[in-house]
Amino acid sequence: MSNEQYICLTCGYNMVGYYPDFCPFCGAPKKRFITADECSNRFDVVANQVSEEVAKLNSVPALGLEHSAYRITTGGRTIWIDCPSTFAAKIVTPAKIIFTHHHFLGAVNLYRDYAGCKAGINRADSAFELCRGFTFDELFEGDHEIDGINAFHIDGHTPGFTCYLFKDILFVCDYVSFHSDELKFNPFGPVEETAEGGKKLSAIIAKYKISKVCGFNYVSDIEKWQRAFQKLLSK
Ligand SMILES: [Zn+2]
Ligand SMILES: [Zn+2]
Repeated sequence: MSNEQYICLTCGYNMVGYYPDFCPFCGAPKKRFITADECSNRFDVVANQVSEEVAKLNSVPALGLEHSAYRITTGGRTIWIDCPSTFAAKIVTPAKIIFTHHHFLGAVNLYRDYAGCKAGINRADSAFELCRGFTFDELFEGDHEIDGINAFHIDGHTPGFTCYLFKDILFVCDYVSFHSDELKFNPFGPVEETAEGGKKLSAIIAKYKISKVCGFNYVSDIEKWQRAFQKLLSK
């Protein structure tokens, strides 16, 4: 299937075309790596519906720290927001894979090679060392719209961090995470800029009617999420 490609079982990061001693994302030693072929044999990608047009994608069994990706199927087109760590040939492959940020690019290169889908990310997130071996077809700047999906450049956690809105569903990946009922900003990034991005996101949300928020390991109704988010912003 692929040329040299390894997946770290600790975090799910894909190393494309090189075999380092330690995972560039989480630092795990290479004994924790499996090949992409082995990954496809041991793991599957499963879709769980969030709404009629949106599904959450995850490797099954769970693969390290892999963040949930989301599939949007609308008007006969399929787009993914972020990408699973596992390449599963049987899953409906999208026309495009657009990223919230560069931390969890998953097996996007394999889907791209297999199905010819286009990969897009904000330009400011496209040249990090963690992007090594990955090709992006589209580099975004600022806020824009892709096939009915609104992209909002938030910055903060990473310089190109982008949140997406499709109809009444908001996608925020790992910008904030739940700790019981409290939300916390992602601590892996610049603290002040991340809080600033939070304010920007809050102002955007206020303009739209949103019912659900899709994060890296949760889907929340907006009421619960907004309560926690506003509390976080007021700290
Ligand atoms: Zn790792
Ligand atoms: Zn991240």
